[in-house]
Amino acid sequence: MIGAEIRNDFPILQQEINGHPLVYLDSAATSQKPRPVIEVLKRYYETDNSNVHRGVHTLGSRATEAYELAREKVARFINAPSPEQVIFTRGTTESINMVAYGYARLQLKAGDRIVLTPSEHHSNLIPWQQVAKVTGAQLHYLPLQPDGTIRLEDVREAVTANTKLVAIAQVSNVLGTIHPVKEIAHIAHAAGALVVVDGAQSVPHMPVDVQDLDCDFLAFSGHKMCGPTGIGVLYGKRKWLEQMEPTYFGGEMIDIVELYDSTWKDIPWKFEGGTPIIAGAIGLGAAVDYLTDIGMEAIRDHDRQVVDYALDRLSEVQGLTIYGPPRGGERGGLVTFNLGRVHAHDVSTVLDSEGIAIRAGHHCAQPLMRILGVPSTARASFYLYNTKADVDALVHGLQTAKEFFQ
Ligand code: PLP
Repeated sequence: MIGAEIRNDFPILQQEINGHPLVYLDSAATSQKPRPVIEVLKRYYETDNSNVHRGVHTLGSRATEAYELAREKVARFINAPSPEQVIFTRGTTESINMVAYGYARLQLKAGDRIVLTPSEHHSNLIPWQQVAKVTGAQLHYLPLQPDGTIRLEDVREAVTANTKLVAIAQVSNVLGTIHPVKEIAHIAHAAGALVVVDGAQSVPHMPVDVQDLDCDFLAFSGHKMCGPTGIGVLYGKRKWLEQMEPTYFGGEMIDIVELYDSTWKDIPWKFEGGTPIIAGAIGLGAAVDYLTDIGMEAIRDHDRQVVDYALDRLSEVQGLTIYGPPRGGERGGLVTFNLGRVHAHDVSTVLDSEGIAIRAGHHCAQPLMRILGVPSTARASFYLYNTKADVDALVHGLQTAKEFFQ
């Protein structure tokens, strides 16, 4: 397993928390950063820092080259047909909002339908509520099966002739369910609808090929894939990006400015108004190099092994309710659970006293919490640096929590 071999690449993991070695099980919220990414950021600020696309001086050229090279790396990583189809944003939330405001708000009208699931992260739910409010379009939620999956026959039924958009996460951040976005795109396209894929939990963890999925838009965040915070990506098919309006107007994104009107640059720059997130993009490029060197298939295999082991070991903890697909089902690298009636925050506090970091709360998915019938859940999420020993520590911590609250 890659976990143990690469732990030394992550300086933050070499510390103790509350007298215990840190066991970091919150990568679905944000991942840790390997040394090569940290070093690229340091080197950039020490040697190349400058604004991009502006200065006719050496530092300006170096920064611009590095920034555009990062775009090329990201494009290769997701197999985008061209780097111009990769827009740098602040993260998944901003990427989805840009599609909602720059595309959907202008293209949809009263009576159109937007199809989504009730398990979406708020970032892939509220922007569509806002679009529905201003256009008169209707939201239509696919029914969730008890294990959090959706059925393709339900998608076929839901995607009617007036459906303009299907918005869905490839991997649920709460249940770990992996949705069949390629098949969904096929169904949507046959009805003339576009598919927006929330890749926040998939792109960091598995090979994602936008041409194979045939999605119209893909949104993801750098900080969940070993990159810095504050940088993310919106990929889009060229024809939609060309139709889409910019969200931010100002410097960097213009072609010709007159007093009463202006024209924009081509894609992707028309979407990157103002000084872009230069260091963040370069750091994301380094993260993409790091993940590519390890191999996305290897990372997916590793996630599978750790999560299967976790499902086995967690079944030993009496009174634990585990949500999402069963052992053997397709699941991303996370397990969400509740320990009897103990509040997830209390579970998390006891685990923290043993140096174990998990996430507790509604995970930005309040409608899903209502479906599950709980106010909150605890979530352990794994990444390439986690090991079976981390799972053992989690199980030990849960036994402690159980004794404490019994
Ligand atoms: N979508 C999913 C499925 C997520 O898990 C997250 C973050 O947890 C987001 C969207 C939002 O990502 P960000 O906060 O980086 O914009």
